[in-house]
Formats: sequence, C-alpha cells, structure tokens
Amino acid sequence: MFHTLFLALLALSVTGCAHLFGDHGSARGAATPIDDGAATPDRHGQAPGYFRMRLGRFTLTALYDGSIEIPSTQLKGASRAAIDRALRIVKQPANVSTAVNAFLVDDGERVILIDSGAGAMQGDTLGKLQANLAASGYAPEDVTAVLLTHLHPDHAGGLIAEHGLAFPNAELYVAQAEADFWLSGDRLNTDQPYDQGLRRIIAEYQARGSFHTFAGGTPPIEGIESVVLRGHTPGHTGYFINADGEMLLFWGDIVHSPGTQFANPDITVAFDVDQKAARVTRNKLLRGAAQTGIWVAGAHMPFPGIGRILSVSNTSYRWLPVDYSQALAGPAQRQAAGR
Ligand SMILES: [Zn+2]
Repeated sequence: MFHTLFLALLALSVTGCAHLFGDHGSARGAATPIDDGAATPDRHGQAPGYFRMRLGRFTLTALYDGSIEIPSTQLKGASRAAIDRALRIVKQPANVSTAVNAFLVDDGERVILIDSGAGAMQGDTLGKLQANLAASGYAPEDVTAVLLTHLHPDHAGGLIAEHGLAFPNAELYVAQAEADFWLSGDRLNTDQPYDQGLRRIIAEYQARGSFHTFAGGTPPIEGIESVVLRGHTPGHTGYFINADGEMLLFWGDIVHSPGTQFANPDITVAFDVDQKAARVTRNKLLRGAAQTGIWVAGAHMPFPGIGRILSVSNTSYRWLPVDYSQALAGPAQRQAAGR
C-alpha cells in the first residue's frame, strides 16, 4: 500500500517538474565548453564558509570555523534511552558533528568580531575562520574589537596566530566574571595546556593595553548590549544588537546539540559548569526568543547559525533558520517571526 502510494507521488512530482527541464529531460542543458587555458573549477568542494545578513545599519557576516564532534555520552539531563531516541528522530548519529561559528558585525565604522573560533587549539577540523574571513572580503587588520561570549578554546583559541595576535588592531572584551574564573584564583595553579595558552594570549593583549573587562549585563562597547547567560561557564555572556526594530542575540553556547535540546531544553552538556543554571537559562531564553521573535546567532547552530525560535509546546521548540535571500532584505520583506 505504502509502496504504491510512494510510486504514485514520485510520478506526480516528476511530471510536475518536467517543465523545469525543457525537452531534454535534463537540468544541465547544453554542456559549457571549457576554456583550455582556464583553471579547472572545483565542482566537489564546499562553498566558502561565510554568510551575510543585513540588519538595519549592521552588516552581519557569519564565519564558519569548522566542526567538532560531541559524543552523545556528553549529553546529560535525560535518560540515555531518551537521548538516543531524540537523536534517531532527527537522523543524527551518536557522535554528532556540531558547527563552530563566529560572527562579524560591521556598522560602517567598526568591525566587531563575536568569538574567534578555535585557531590551532582543537585540531584540524577547526581553525578555518581566517580563511573564511578572507573569503568574505575582510582582513584580520580590519577587526577593531573582539567580544568573547566566554573563554572556552573554540571561542578564544582563534585570538592567536602563528605570527602573534590574530587580529592586530583589535581591542578585546570579556565579562569580568569570565576573566576572574579563568585568569585568577585556583585556576592559575592548573597546568592544563589550554589554560597556559589562554593566559599567554590574554597577557599579549594586556601588555599593549587592549584587554578590557565589563560587568555582566552592561554594554561592553557603545551600541552593543550584554546579557548574563548563567550556567555554561561562570561569566558566559550573550550580546544584543538592535537595529530598526529588529533585535539579534548572539547567544554563545546556549545550544550545543540542536537535534535534542530544542525538543528537550532540559538536556545539558557535560561541560556546562553549572548544569542546573544552564538548564534554567536555556528554558527561559528559548521561551523568550519564541515569544519575541528576535533573531538568534548561535556558536553551535548549523552554519550559518542564524535563525529564530518557534514554540511547539510550553517546553519544546523548533529552530527556524534564516532564509538565503531574505537575509539581505529589510525587515518588512522578511518572513513572519513565527509567532
Ligand atoms: Zn563552544
């Protein structure tokens, strides 16, 4: 029965699409002659990892740093069976490959980078931000400020390059609570390679007077608001921009596993330092984002990581990714906010 229905639907869709292919029955049409002198185009690699969105006076560029695997054993807050079932429903393997994104905000005068990718700190599936930045039309020297959501390596590792500071003209901003956690107290005694590397990076910015901290919830720089997003790290911070009535929140690490955490926001990751706070923050934020229809840019959402939230029930949500062409349109032309 199902088989017959499936074949009937297939026949319908082929007939329906026939006009797209003309008389040849092929979308390719006539072959394009290849110029013998020209380089052979790459027809098998992926497109460059950047994506543009216009938001009032801001031009936003999402930058892909690469991907990192999160084993499902790192997901907490629900039974193993429930987590495995959730992953099966969204057709994801047990070890999910999760994107690492950073975002560039250009207001015409300043070029502000939100998070910096992993640089060389986490293996060769990451560290592609510099190449994608260049592909997007910016040089590292263009970046005037770097705002970090927190100091984990996939967000701060890209601050350093082989030759020194990766963004030589940038001022660096981190929430005070985050800086306190990583750069003072007991943490100073750890000899973890990442901690040592992080301290070296920050010391370079401090030496030239370019390292700045700010109280959680206060604007780090003019035109950008901050919000404390408790749970993932002690000073985990989101950043807001507001343009022509549209608001966008860079939410850092609120979601690591889109396949499971929208359906069940109680699911946490092992590296949330305060599991309970992370769960509460995610639930509150998803509810608020769904009610207000604000744009969200997430470090670990599928690239380009920009979208909005749809409420499915009181406790479950869906991700609504930004549309390719509407990303460059004005607010009036964009799709409805999903309310
Ligand atoms: Zn992260």
